[in-house]
Amino acid sequence: MQKQASKGIEKETIKRTITLIPGDGIGPEITEAMVRVVEATGADIEWEVVNAGAEVYEREGTVLPQRVIDSLKKNRVGIKGPITTPVGTGFRSVNVALRKFFDLYACVRPCKNYPGISSRYEGVDIVIIRENTEDLYAGVEFECGSSEAIELINFIKERKDVDIRKDSGISIKPISIGASERIIRFAFEYARKNNRKKVTCVHKANIMKYSDGLFLDVFKRIASDYQDIESEDRIVDNMCMQLVQKPQFYDVLVLPNLYGDIVSDLAAGLVGGLGVAPGANIGDEIALFEPTHGSAPKYKGKNKVNPTAMMLSAVLMLKYIGENECADVMEKAIAEVIKEGKYVTYDLKPGSDNHTAVGTLEMTEAIVDKIKSFKVQY
Ligand code: NAD
Repeated sequence: MQKQASKGIEKETIKRTITLIPGDGIGPEITEAMVRVVEATGADIEWEVVNAGAEVYEREGTVLPQRVIDSLKKNRVGIKGPITTPVGTGFRSVNVALRKFFDLYACVRPCKNYPGISSRYEGVDIVIIRENTEDLYAGVEFECGSSEAIELINFIKERKDVDIRKDSGISIKPISIGASERIIRFAFEYARKNNRKKVTCVHKANIMKYSDGLFLDVFKRIASDYQDIESEDRIVDNMCMQLVQKPQFYDVLVLPNLYGDIVSDLAAGLVGGLGVAPGANIGDEIALFEPTHGSAPKYKGKNKVNPTAMMLSAVLMLKYIGENECADVMEKAIAEVIKEGKYVTYDLKPGSDNHTAVGTLEMTEAIVDKIKSFKVQY
């Protein structure tokens, strides 16, 4: 417990402990940048630093040590930098493992225009809500030529009289009523709490009647409980075209896992790229915040990348724990530095080798200075 002066009155505060997972690649740099900015806001936070990923694996022989699990279980809120997943071979994604282990079923990815970021569009303010636990990401796969794949192919021929080529690999797409209900309800509740007007369900129910069709049926049923919020649905291919043509028409989108993954990168592209796209993975008990982008290994340790996505993920986290004032100050400072366009990283400058771009550290310092200048004004 510590004493803190607020508006001239001394108040007693209990610091909230947050699990901090720096990650690897560019993770540690952007995590450090985020911590400096959160601390500049004066948020009552204490960090519990634990790490996971490739570097931990080299030292300890596991990518996800028990202390990371224990820390998240205890603190219930965490924020993480990106973690590399080897392609093809090696360990499976730590990011996916964490979402599964803690049943963080809702992936929330806001995509909003900030003045100063060059993008083809203005006035975009979309929130993608992606189901995180099932669909083609359930991890149920049958390797081409395996006895299980052949058995499954024979079973389908026998039961459905459908020929699947013997040289096929097969991935299973489960979509359940329970998981659809909770993600769709989450989307409507999110809309209500955040004064959003419309929820759009994205699917391919015309082709996949028993999986996406189920998702759409559940959506229609749950939408009727939220008469105050407009609801509609779009087929995913049409949705992609509409987002490119008129993204300003859309508000909250709710999608099964695979479409959610793809459409959230599309939406990040609408507002200036991965460097400014934050994210959150939320369950009933625990929430883990992280940028949408990955570990960009080629930029590791180069003081090059944009810390904004990581910082905006912290803004989401601050709102989640009720530190709304600190969240607003932090977002305003980030937005002003971006709008001024002087102390911003390469990805926010016109041209790929713009010599006026600054590094991660310099952009972070500019945001910290901006927060300090707000405090002087008050
Ligand atoms: P990536 O997002 O790491 O990078 C793609 C490109 O986007 C980079 O080369 C860079 O040009 C740009 N970029 C990304 N972040 C940026 C930033 N903050 N500022 C400026 N530019 C930025 O995607 P990738 O190369 O496909 O993946 C690299 C690794 O990250 C892979 O191992 C992948 O599995 C992992 N990954 C992790 C997460 C996560 O931890 N949640 C998410 C996605 C990918």
